[in-house]
Amino acid sequence: MKYNRAYYEQNAPLVSDIEYDVLFKELEALEKDFPELKLADSPTEKVGSNISKGFNEYKHKTRLYSLDNTYSYEDLTKWYEKIQKQFPDIENIEVVCELKIDGLAVSLTYENSALVVGATRGDGVVGENITNNLKTIKTIPVNLNKTIKELDARGEIFMPKSAFEKLNAKQKKINGKLFANPRNAAAGSLRQLNPEITAERELAMFTYAGILNDNKYKIETHSQMLDFLKSLGFNLNPNYKVCKNITEAIDYCKYWDTERYNLDYATDGVVIKINRLDIEAELGYTSRAPRWATAFKFPPEEVSTTVKNIEINVGRTGAVTPVAVLEPVFVSGSTVQRATLHNFDEIKRLGINIGDTVLIKKAAEIIPKVITVLEHVSKNEKEFLPPSECPFCHSKLIPVEGEVNLYCPNTFYCPAQIKGRLEYWVSKDCMDIDGVGTNLISRLVEKGYVTNPADLYKLTVDDLMQLDLIAEKSAQNIYDAIQNSKTPELSRFINSLGIRHVGKETSELIAAKFLTFEKFKNAACDSIQQIEGIGEKISDSIIEFFKNEMNIQLLNELNKNGVIPKETTVETTEKSLSGKVFVITGTLSTTRDIFEKTIKNLGGKVSSSVSKNTNYVLMGENPGSKVDKAHALGVKIISEDEFERLISGSERN
Ligand code: NAD
Repeated sequence: MKYNRAYYEQNAPLVSDIEYDVLFKELEALEKDFPELKLADSPTEKVGSNISKGFNEYKHKTRLYSLDNTYSYEDLTKWYEKIQKQFPDIENIEVVCELKIDGLAVSLTYENSALVVGATRGDGVVGENITNNLKTIKTIPVNLNKTIKELDARGEIFMPKSAFEKLNAKQKKINGKLFANPRNAAAGSLRQLNPEITAERELAMFTYAGILNDNKYKIETHSQMLDFLKSLGFNLNPNYKVCKNITEAIDYCKYWDTERYNLDYATDGVVIKINRLDIEAELGYTSRAPRWATAFKFPPEEVSTTVKNIEINVGRTGAVTPVAVLEPVFVSGSTVQRATLHNFDEIKRLGINIGDTVLIKKAAEIIPKVITVLEHVSKNEKEFLPPSECPFCHSKLIPVEGEVNLYCPNTFYCPAQIKGRLEYWVSKDCMDIDGVGTNLISRLVEKGYVTNPADLYKLTVDDLMQLDLIAEKSAQNIYDAIQNSKTPELSRFINSLGIRHVGKETSELIAAKFLTFEKFKNAACDSIQQIEGIGEKISDSIIEFFKNEMNIQLLNELNKNGVIPKETTVETTEKSLSGKVFVITGTLSTTRDIFEKTIKNLGGKVSSSVSKNTNYVLMGENPGSKVDKAHALGVKIISEDEFERLISGSERN
C-alpha cells in the first residue's frame, strides 16, 4: 500500500515496476495460501487510486479495470490455453495485440455525439472529473463524426518522448522540477488545476476501447470496435494486430520488445485481448482485471554483462574517473560498451573488479550505469585499487579535501586534461564549433598542433589537411567554423574558460552583471559575490583563475588571435524584467525562492501583496485571495508556463 501511494498519489515510485510486480505476485500467492490473512483493502483486490482534492469526483458509468500481467511467454501461453480449453468448439481463438501505452487511463463519456465528461480512472469506480483539461488535447474529439446516442471511450493519455525532453529542458532553464519519465510528466500535466497549463504540455491520447449504447451499430469483435472508433474520429495507435493464435501474438511481443525504442512514445508491453466480444462477456472480470485480456510486460532494461577492463579517465579538471569497459551488450535501444564507475569509493561499494559479471542499466534511459555485481570472478580476488599516478602524464595523483575524486595536478601539461579542455571549449554550450570532435582533438594534441584553445585559432587549412583523413573541403569547413567562433557571446566565452565551479548558468549571471569581459576580469571579489547565487567558493575560484600565469597567457593569446567576446547588451539579459513588480501565489512546481531569484536576477521586484503597482501575479496551484484582488484591480495573472515564456523573451510587454 505504501508503494501504491507513492506511485499513484505522489508520482514518485519507491521501487522499480518489476520489483513491485514480483512483490504483488508474492502477495497474491500468500493470500491464496492464507486467505484468513487477506486484508479487505488489499492491493490485489483493487485498482490503484489517485483522487486529488482539486477535482470533482466522477462516478464512472461502467467500471474501469487494471490488467493482469506477466513477464513470461510461458505464462502468456498458459493464459491463452486456459481460455482455449473453455471454448473447445472454436479452433483458434483470435486475439488482438496492442501496444501497452505507458501513460494514464481516462474515460470519455459522449452523449448525442458530444463529449460531456472526461475522467481519470481513479479506483476504477470513481475518478476525477478533468473534462476541461481533456478538451485541450488535440487528439480527443469534442464532437463525433457520426450520430451516437451514448458511448464511453477508453484510452491512454501520454506525453511523446520529444515533448517530454522539451518540457524538461524548459524546466531546467527555470530551475523547475524535472520529471523522471514521460509517464510522470503526463500525469503531472494532465492533473493541473489550470487547463491552460495542460494545453501547453503537448499531451496526446490513443483510444483503445469503446462501450457503446446505441442499437444502430452491430459490433461483434474488438477489432471491429477499433475500426468503428477510428471512423468516429478517435486517434488510434496504428500499431495493433489481429493474431490467429498465441504464437503469432508472441512473435508480435518479440518484435516490439526491440522496435519500441524507435517510437516517440513510451510503451511498457503488449496488451493481448480476445477478439470476440461474446467470449469477452462470458469470461468477465476478476475484482481488478478482465479475464479476457492480459499484458505481456517487456523485460526491464537491466541486463548483465562482464567487465573486460577498468580504465582510468582524466577529465579537463584533472578529476580521475574509473570507467568499466564492458562486453558489448544491447540495452534500452543501443549497444553499451562502457559505463562510468564515478570514483573509487563507488568501486569499493560495488566490490567490482575486472572479469566480474555485472547488472547494468541506463540511468534516465541515457547514461549506462552499473547497478550491482552479480558474480565475482573469484572470491579471493584482490580489490581493485586506485592508481597512484596519472596514466597519461605519470604525475602523482592527489586527493582534494572534501571531494571523493583523486586529481592529476599537472593541469597545463597533462595530455588528457588538454584534450578535455579543448573538447569542452568546442562543445555546444561553450564556443559551439561544429566539426571539431573528440577524434580531431586527439590528433591535434598528439601531433603537437594544439596545446590550448588559443592554438585552435592559429591553425591553417593546410595544417588541418596534413592531419590524416582530412580532405581539403572538410579542412576548409573546420577552419571556417573555428574562425566564425571568434566573437562569442560573453556568457559562452566565460563558460568556455572552464573556471572551476563556473558553469553555464553562473556564466550567464556573470555576463548579465558585468556586461564586458574586461569588467569581469577586473572585478573585485566583493562585487562578484553581489550576484545572487554566487558565494565565496565560486568567487575564490574566479579570482584564483585570473591570478594564474598560464591563464593570463591564454587570455592574451586568445585576444591576439582575435577571439574577443561581445559586450552583453542590457535589454537581452539583465533588464528584461526591469521595473516589473511580481506577486507570487499558490504552489508552484518548485520553491518560491527559485522564482524570486529568477525575477530579481532579471531586474524585477517581488512584492508580498497585490496593489495597483503590481504588474503580474504569478499563480500556482491552489492560489490564495491575491488572485481575487488581482482580478479586482485588473492586474495580469500568469501561469508558470506564461512566466517561462515571459523570461525567455517570447512574450514581452
Ligand atoms: P498497468 O498500467 O500495468 O495496466 C493497466 C493499464 O494499462 C490500464 O488501466 C490502461 O490504462 C493501460 N493500457 C495501456 N495501453 C493499453 C491498451 N492498449 N489496452 C488496454 N489498456 C491499456 O496497471 P495499473 O493498475 O495502472 O498499475 C499496475 C502496474 O503499475 C504494476 O504492474 C506496476 O508495474 C506499476 N506500479 C508500480 C509501482 C512502483 O512502486 N513501481 C507501484 C504501483 C504500480
